[in-house]
Amino acid sequence: MEKKNIDWSNLGFGYIETEKRFVSNYKNGAWDEGALVSDSMITMSECAGVLQYAQTVFEGMKAYTTEDGRIVTFRPDLNAARMEDSCKRLQMPVFPQDKFIEAVSQVVEANAAYVPPYGSGATLYLRPYMFGSSPVIGVKPAEEYQFRIFATPVGPYFKGGVKPLTIKVSDFDRAAPNGTGHIKAGLNYAMSLHAIVTAHEEGYDENMYLDPKTRTKVEETGGANFLFITKDNKVVTPKSSSILPSITRRSLMQVAKDYLGLEVEEREVYVDELENFAECGLCGTAAVISPVGKVVNHGKEICFPSGMNDMGPVTKKLYDTLTGIQMGRIEAPEGWIHVIK
Ligand SMILES: *Cc1c(COP(=O)(O)O)cnc(C)c1O
Repeated sequence: MEKKNIDWSNLGFGYIETEKRFVSNYKNGAWDEGALVSDSMITMSECAGVLQYAQTVFEGMKAYTTEDGRIVTFRPDLNAARMEDSCKRLQMPVFPQDKFIEAVSQVVEANAAYVPPYGSGATLYLRPYMFGSSPVIGVKPAEEYQFRIFATPVGPYFKGGVKPLTIKVSDFDRAAPNGTGHIKAGLNYAMSLHAIVTAHEEGYDENMYLDPKTRTKVEETGGANFLFITKDNKVVTPKSSSILPSITRRSLMQVAKDYLGLEVEEREVYVDELENFAECGLCGTAAVISPVGKVVNHGKEICFPSGMNDMGPVTKKLYDTLTGIQMGRIEAPEGWIHVIK
């Protein structure tokens, strides 16, 4: 198979149409077989549930080439399980988890020419999603749904080297205590757009959202979970029922414990204790970990000792170990690497 003629290392994070996508329709209470199709456009009712009441959920994952030339995905079973949780919370039908994993493989195989080569830093980003497609005007769940997966090649996250982020403690809230913060729903992103555009205008890279009830505890950013390293090398991540359970963060916690022999802790993290940490990072599929150099809390600057030039030493070890596992340079825990071809 010949790779597409793409300048992999200069790709950004944008949508590039690839050849095939998976589509399955839910009608009369059942999913059809589903198939790969070439048409990237969607036609549906002007009154579709997704358009009127935002009934839609999604996942984000990537396929990439390992050191020995295999095309793999990372822990797709966790994406399938998380999508099930998301669907249930928005009264959507569940797309069976085994079929989800199978459909992911089909999309990657069909677009294998777009899977970037090992060492380029680029990956094939996969976007599984589901939406209510039948007309809904009185507020209720749609009766028909579409599940789709498309693939788009994306460039290396840290182009031209790692640059620690400056983030702002936001005055906006991301997710209510018993709301939808723990699921991957478009609605959580729609309401974050004003907050992120505002933060960017003010010169910040990201928002740190607090728990809306007390506004004393750290939750997450718009699209990544926090990891903190204490001065005695303990790895701490905030615990809250309104945080989206990042697969990268859960994997990094396991890597910290089992590969690096570090103590790990998932607990409530107070804004007031930020200045005690040695390092801070954001975790998600796109970057694995982005280091945070500075948090600004209403004019008060908290500068982590790791500084504004590099990843902190523990963050770097976590990053190197997890990316080593993903790329096949370090032996993976059972079931983490799903080989497609
Ligand atoms: C997707 C997402 C993350 C990161 O999750 P990963 O599974 O690691 O990619 C973190 N926070 C939010 C709000 C997200 O939507």
